[in-house]
Amino acid sequence: MKKGEDMLPNNISKELFGSTLERIKATNNIANKDDLRLPFQNRETVIFIFCKGCGMIYEANEEAANKFLEKGEIISSSFVNKYIKISGCIGCDNNIDEIKLINI
Ligand SMILES: [Zn+2]
Repeated sequence: MKKGEDMLPNNISKELFGSTLERIKATNNIANKDDLRLPFQNRETVIFIFCKGCGMIYEANEEAANKFLEKGEIISSSFVNKYIKISGCIGCDNNIDEIKLINI
């Protein structure tokens, strides 16, 4: 993926983020392990999504999580002890040209 390339048009990002739940804003835009190990608020949540652009942490259900992984061309069979890091979100309007699945 080329840097600066807008991978997700706005309507797609709205669709993506429409099925997530805004959770907390990480201090200094850094996701620490305590934040990423908080219990999920929504029973359907399977993983946190952390935006490094603005520090927002979202909860994603399985459907939303899979959409993000698909956009990032990531194949994974498990969300346990992992989080998805993205370069931008609907809150900060940065490009989502980077999607990674990272071990907590
Ligand atoms: Zn953001």
